Amino acid sequence: MSELDPSLPALVGLRCRCGTLRGQVDATPVRGRRAGLHIVCYCADCRAFALALERPDGLDAAGGTAIWQTTPSRVRIQSGTEQLRCLRLSDKGMLRWHTACCNTPVANTMSSPGFPFAGLIRTCLELSDERQAALLGTATGVNGRSAKGQAPAGTEATASLGTILRTIAFLLRGRLAGAQRPTPFFDANGQPVVTPRVLSVAEREAVRERDR
Ligand SMILES: [Zn+2]
Ligand SMILES: [Zn+2]
Repeated sequence: MSELDPSLPALVGLRCRCGTLRGQVDATPVRGRRAGLHIVCYCADCRAFALALERPDGLDAAGGTAIWQTTPSRVRIQSGTEQLRCLRLSDKGMLRWHTACCNTPVANTMSSPGFPFAGLIRTCLELSDERQAALLGTATGVNGRSAKGQAPAGTEATASLGTILRTIAFLLRGRLAGAQRPTPFFDANGQPVVTPRVLSVAEREAVRERDR
Protein backbone atom coordinates (compact mmCIF):
# COMPACT_ATOMS: atom_id res chain seq x y z
CA MET A 1 0.00 0.00 0.00
CA SER A 2 1.75 3.15 -1.15
CA GLU A 3 -0.37 5.35 1.14
CA LEU A 4 1.16 3.59 4.12
CA ASP A 5 4.71 3.92 2.83
CA PRO A 6 6.48 5.68 5.74
CA SER A 7 8.66 7.64 3.33
CA LEU A 8 5.66 9.40 1.76
CA PRO A 9 3.77 12.33 3.25
CA ALA A 10 0.57 11.13 4.86
CA LEU A 11 -2.00 13.89 4.48
CA VAL A 12 -5.37 13.30 6.09
CA GLY A 13 -8.50 15.29 5.27
CA LEU A 14 -10.22 17.22 8.04
CA ARG A 15 -13.91 17.84 7.45
CA CYS A 16 -16.98 18.97 9.36
CA ARG A 17 -20.13 16.94 8.83
CA CYS A 18 -21.58 19.29 6.19
CA GLY A 19 -18.24 19.81 4.44
CA THR A 20 -18.06 23.60 4.79
CA LEU A 21 -14.99 23.47 6.99
CA ARG A 22 -12.22 21.53 5.35
CA GLY A 23 -8.58 21.17 6.03
CA GLN A 24 -5.64 18.86 6.07
CA VAL A 25 -3.63 17.18 8.77
CA ASP A 26 -0.08 16.05 8.15
CA ALA A 27 0.10 12.69 9.86
CA THR A 28 3.46 11.73 8.40
CA PRO A 29 5.45 9.75 10.97
CA VAL A 30 8.82 11.12 12.00
CA ARG A 31 11.65 8.56 11.99
CA GLY A 32 9.19 5.76 12.48
CA ARG A 33 7.35 7.53 15.30
CA ARG A 34 3.68 8.34 14.82
CA ALA A 35 2.88 12.04 14.66
CA GLY A 36 0.42 12.02 17.53
CA LEU A 37 -1.19 10.14 20.38
CA HIS A 38 -4.46 8.33 19.81
CA ILE A 39 -6.82 8.21 22.77
CA VAL A 40 -10.46 7.66 23.59
CA CYS A 41 -11.34 9.93 26.49
CA TYR A 42 -14.26 8.95 28.71
CA CYS A 43 -14.14 12.08 30.87
CA ALA A 44 -17.32 14.02 31.52
CA ASP A 45 -15.91 17.23 30.06
CA CYS A 46 -15.21 15.73 26.65
CA ARG A 47 -18.71 14.26 26.74
CA ALA A 48 -20.18 17.61 27.83
CA PHE A 49 -18.62 19.22 24.76
CA ALA A 50 -20.44 16.78 22.46
CA LEU A 51 -23.67 17.16 24.42
CA ALA A 52 -23.49 20.97 24.45
CA LEU A 53 -23.25 20.83 20.66
CA GLU A 54 -26.15 18.34 20.50
CA ARG A 55 -23.77 15.89 18.85
CA PRO A 56 -23.80 12.76 21.03
CA ASP A 57 -23.53 10.78 17.77
CA GLY A 58 -19.77 11.31 17.93
CA LEU A 59 -19.47 9.41 21.21
CA ASP A 60 -18.88 5.69 21.48
CA ALA A 61 -21.22 3.30 23.32
CA ALA A 62 -19.63 4.16 26.69
CA GLY A 63 -19.66 7.90 26.09
CA GLY A 64 -16.05 8.17 24.90
CA THR A 65 -14.57 10.71 22.54
CA ALA A 66 -11.88 9.48 20.15
CA ILE A 67 -9.14 12.08 19.83
CA TRP A 68 -5.90 12.25 17.92
CA GLN A 69 -3.51 14.48 19.81
CA THR A 70 -1.00 16.08 17.49
CA THR A 71 0.71 19.43 17.10
CA PRO A 72 -0.99 22.57 15.74
CA SER A 73 1.78 22.84 13.14
CA ARG A 74 0.35 19.76 11.44
CA VAL A 75 -3.15 21.18 11.09
CA ARG A 76 -4.34 23.41 8.24
CA ILE A 77 -7.84 24.70 7.77
CA GLN A 78 -8.32 25.49 4.11
CA SER A 79 -11.97 26.49 3.83
CA GLY A 80 -14.84 27.34 6.11
CA THR A 81 -12.61 29.11 8.65
CA GLU A 82 -15.43 31.60 9.19
CA GLN A 83 -17.50 28.74 10.60
CA LEU A 84 -14.98 27.97 13.34
CA ARG A 85 -16.24 28.60 16.87
CA CYS A 86 -14.78 28.08 20.31
CA LEU A 87 -16.52 26.87 23.43
CA ARG A 88 -15.33 26.65 27.01
CA LEU A 89 -17.19 24.62 29.59
CA SER A 90 -16.00 27.08 32.25
CA ASP A 91 -13.78 30.12 32.27
CA LYS A 92 -10.80 27.94 33.13
CA GLY A 93 -11.49 25.14 30.72
CA MET A 94 -9.74 24.02 27.57
CA LEU A 95 -10.66 25.68 24.32
CA ARG A 96 -13.04 23.37 22.50
CA TRP A 97 -13.27 24.13 18.81
CA HIS A 98 -16.28 23.33 16.68
CA THR A 99 -18.16 24.55 13.65
CA ALA A 100 -21.21 26.79 13.56
CA CYS A 101 -22.47 25.36 10.24
CA CYS A 102 -23.22 21.87 11.56
CA ASN A 103 -22.04 21.80 15.21
CA THR A 104 -19.19 19.43 14.49
CA PRO A 105 -16.64 19.08 17.31
CA VAL A 106 -13.25 19.71 15.68
CA ALA A 107 -10.50 19.98 18.28
CA ASN A 108 -9.39 20.76 21.82
CA THR A 109 -6.49 23.05 22.60
CA MET A 110 -5.08 24.58 25.75
CA SER A 111 -6.08 28.17 26.37
CA SER A 112 -2.49 29.31 25.89
CA PRO A 113 -0.92 29.27 22.41
CA GLY A 114 2.38 28.05 23.84
CA PHE A 115 1.36 24.40 24.00
CA PRO A 116 2.25 22.24 21.00
CA PHE A 117 -1.06 20.46 21.41
CA ALA A 118 -4.12 20.05 19.22
CA GLY A 119 -6.50 17.23 20.16
CA LEU A 120 -8.35 16.58 16.93
CA ILE A 121 -11.74 14.96 17.32
CA ARG A 122 -11.33 11.79 15.28
CA THR A 123 -14.77 11.93 13.68
CA CYS A 124 -13.47 14.92 11.65
CA LEU A 125 -10.61 12.94 10.16
CA GLU A 126 -11.19 11.31 6.80
CA LEU A 127 -9.50 7.97 7.25
CA SER A 128 -10.11 4.45 6.10
CA ASP A 129 -9.84 1.87 8.87
CA GLU A 130 -6.56 0.74 7.38
CA ARG A 131 -5.01 4.20 7.25
CA GLN A 132 -6.31 4.94 10.73
CA ALA A 133 -4.59 1.86 12.09
CA ALA A 134 -1.36 2.68 10.30
CA LEU A 135 -1.14 6.41 10.97
CA LEU A 136 -2.90 6.77 14.32
CA GLY A 137 -2.30 3.34 15.84
CA THR A 138 -4.53 1.74 18.43
CA ALA A 139 -6.32 4.16 20.73
CA THR A 140 -5.61 4.12 24.45
CA GLY A 141 -8.80 4.48 26.49
CA VAL A 142 -8.42 6.93 29.38
CA ASN A 143 -10.62 8.22 32.22
CA GLY A 144 -12.61 4.99 32.14
CA ARG A 145 -13.95 5.61 35.64
CA SER A 146 -16.07 8.41 34.14
CA ALA A 147 -17.45 6.24 31.33
CA LYS A 148 -21.16 5.67 30.87
CA GLY A 149 -21.48 2.04 31.78
CA GLN A 150 -18.66 -0.32 30.95
CA ALA A 151 -15.72 1.13 29.05
CA PRO A 152 -13.93 -1.30 26.72
CA ALA A 153 -11.44 -3.73 28.28
CA GLY A 154 -8.03 -2.14 28.72
CA THR A 155 -9.39 1.35 29.32
CA GLU A 156 -7.34 3.09 31.99
CA ALA A 157 -9.28 4.29 35.05
CA THR A 158 -7.70 7.72 34.76
CA ALA A 159 -4.40 7.80 32.88
CA SER A 160 -1.60 5.35 33.55
CA LEU A 161 1.92 6.51 34.28
CA GLY A 162 2.91 5.26 30.82
CA THR A 163 0.23 7.37 29.18
CA ILE A 164 1.21 10.42 31.22
CA LEU A 165 4.88 10.00 30.35
CA ARG A 166 4.11 9.52 26.65
CA THR A 167 2.05 12.72 26.73
CA ILE A 168 4.81 14.69 28.49
CA ALA A 169 7.39 13.38 26.01
CA PHE A 170 5.11 14.33 23.11
CA LEU A 171 4.71 17.88 24.48
CA LEU A 172 8.45 18.25 25.08
CA ARG A 173 9.32 17.05 21.58
CA GLY A 174 6.72 19.42 20.15
CA ARG A 175 8.02 22.31 22.18
CA LEU A 176 11.61 21.65 21.13
CA ALA A 177 10.47 21.56 17.51
CA GLY A 178 8.46 24.77 17.91
CA ALA A 179 5.42 22.82 16.74
CA GLN A 180 2.94 25.07 18.55
CA ARG A 181 3.14 27.19 15.40
CA PRO A 182 1.84 27.71 12.82
CA THR A 183 -1.61 27.21 14.28
CA PRO A 184 -5.11 27.66 12.88
CA PHE A 185 -6.42 28.31 16.39
CA PHE A 186 -4.47 31.40 17.56
CA ASP A 187 -3.60 34.65 15.83
CA ALA A 188 -0.20 36.33 15.68
CA ASN A 189 -0.88 37.98 19.05
CA GLY A 190 -1.55 34.63 20.69
CA GLN A 191 -5.29 35.24 20.95
CA PRO A 192 -7.84 32.61 19.93
CA VAL A 193 -8.94 33.30 16.34
CA VAL A 194 -12.52 33.56 17.57
CA THR A 195 -13.56 34.72 21.02
CA PRO A 196 -14.41 31.66 23.13
CA ARG A 197 -17.96 31.40 24.37
CA VAL A 198 -18.07 30.24 27.98
CA LEU A 199 -21.08 28.15 28.96
CA SER A 200 -23.18 29.83 31.63
CA VAL A 201 -23.60 27.99 34.91
CA ALA A 202 -27.17 27.15 33.90
CA GLU A 203 -26.07 25.82 30.52
CA ARG A 204 -23.34 23.76 32.14
CA GLU A 205 -25.78 22.34 34.68
CA ALA A 206 -28.22 21.47 31.90
CA VAL A 207 -25.53 19.60 30.01
CA ARG A 208 -24.43 17.72 33.13
CA GLU A 209 -28.03 16.83 33.83
CA ARG A 210 -28.37 15.26 30.39
CA ASP A 211 -25.27 13.21 31.08
CA ARG A 212 -26.81 11.57 34.16
ZN1 LIG B 1 -20.24 22.07 8.74
ZN1 LIG C 1 -11.71 14.14 28.16
